[in-house]
Amino acid sequence: MIAEYKHLAEMGAKLVELRVDWILRPVNLKRILAKRFCPVVLTCRRERDGGKWARTEQDRMILLRSAIVEGVDYVDLEDDIATLIPRYGKTKRIISYHNFRETPENLREIHDRLSKMDPDIVKIATMAHSPHDNLRMLRMVRESKTPTIGLCMGEVGTPTRVLCGKFGAPFTFATFHAERMLAPGQLTFKQMLEMYRYDSINDSTEVYGVIADPVAHSLSPHVHNAGFAAMKMNKVYLPFRVSREDLPSFLANCRELGIKGLSVTIPHKESVLRYLSKTDEVSQRIQAVNTIDFSGATAIGSNTDYQAVIQSILPLFGDKAKRRPLEGVRYLMLGAGGVARATVYALDSLGARAVITSRTLARSDELANQFGGEVVPWEERHEVKCDLVVNGTPVGMHPNVNETPFDKRYLRGTMVVFDAVYNPEQTLLVKQAREQGCRVITGVDMFVTQAALQFKIFSGQQPPLEQMRQEVIRAIGPARY
Ligand code: NAP
Repeated sequence: MIAEYKHLAEMGAKLVELRVDWILRPVNLKRILAKRFCPVVLTCRRERDGGKWARTEQDRMILLRSAIVEGVDYVDLEDDIATLIPRYGKTKRIISYHNFRETPENLREIHDRLSKMDPDIVKIATMAHSPHDNLRMLRMVRESKTPTIGLCMGEVGTPTRVLCGKFGAPFTFATFHAERMLAPGQLTFKQMLEMYRYDSINDSTEVYGVIADPVAHSLSPHVHNAGFAAMKMNKVYLPFRVSREDLPSFLANCRELGIKGLSVTIPHKESVLRYLSKTDEVSQRIQAVNTIDFSGATAIGSNTDYQAVIQSILPLFGDKAKRRPLEGVRYLMLGAGGVARATVYALDSLGARAVITSRTLARSDELANQFGGEVVPWEERHEVKCDLVVNGTPVGMHPNVNETPFDKRYLRGTMVVFDAVYNPEQTLLVKQAREQGCRVITGVDMFVTQAALQFKIFSGQQPPLEQMRQEVIRAIGPARY
């Protein structure tokens, strides 16, 4: 604990919570507190409050009182013992309430009760089941007279850990290390500092994010926060886990959360159209939105996947001077889902002819009926003569990195191969295509391009492309290649 305390202070932590309940041997407070590397909060949680303290309550009270006598900067006292341990010396009191089951309806009442227990800071941490729980928690933080830290636990609650700073909390909580998660949905100290730049969050910070379910795997927070940091913008981008049922209420509450823009992904790309009164022509035609701009009076939906396909393919292919630069190009579209819709619509507008193939024939037929193109059964895909192969299936995606949707024996050096899968970037299809001498567009190329187009919508400025790309590559990590 001493080593980690020292390490965190060296990394720039201004306050470190010492969770002495994690020490299984008798706690030697004098030794732990002998050298103050930075101010500390001393906390000793019982099992019922999510801690590891298994010894007697009397021993715990003695420990907390001794910590106060030792002059720790803050002591954390749960609401049921706060009145039993009086204020003494300079030690500040954090009066805390935890609820691992839910975010109760009577948050305000709980706060009022805790405020009467002589707190310097009130801390309330509850389990979030919907984004509305986050909003109620943050409202409470904003409206409180006593400095208040209000956090929601769980993946749904993660944004509150960053946003509480914008709403007025004196500080937030993060873990020392990803493997030392002390509460579900917690972020690491490094993520808080480097990805979310918590230190620079204030009431004027503009909020952006991605809505998805699940959302933890999303690379969008990496890429957009890297862009905002490179451009020194007072903006933060968060992962919002929003279920289908919660989508309408989440959208209705976006402005109160300070949200100026959103990326939209699975499963909301299609359903979100219903809740937007304004969407651009492309999104209407594809019936899919991946970007919402809240900067004006009306939220506007648009689709940068479509533009990203065009921007990725055009430089490698065709004569840009022509009105329909891909006229005469025949391509094989593997898959008939979201990426395929954006691709077929985009390439159709450039004049290319699609041959669509997917596991589910009916989905290929539907796509061809809507945007044009031939359909071949999945089993016959290798017989199609084409200039371009586009993979719009997840085949080859982590962890199934030894799979490819297109057998290498049918790859020709004259082909362009475009694989939408971005994790890993070097999929088996990409590797084999390069071996055959094909020109290649990777999923990372497309991902960064669509994010860069969103960045332009969100900030009105040219995106720092290289930093965004490097961050995606770093986030995917070499281990997955
Ligand atoms: P989607 O809407 O779910 O569509 C997936 C398509 O792949 C469907 O046609 C599906 O066929 C087919 N498929 C699924 N598993 C298959 C398998 N084992 N064998 C053959 N076909 C299979 O997904 P999406 O949003 O289009 O995404 C597709 C891929 O692109 C994913 O890997 C995603 O991560 C990636 N992506 C990349 C970007 C980027 O910017 N680079 C953006 C979005 C998505 P059925 O109908 O038979 O299930």
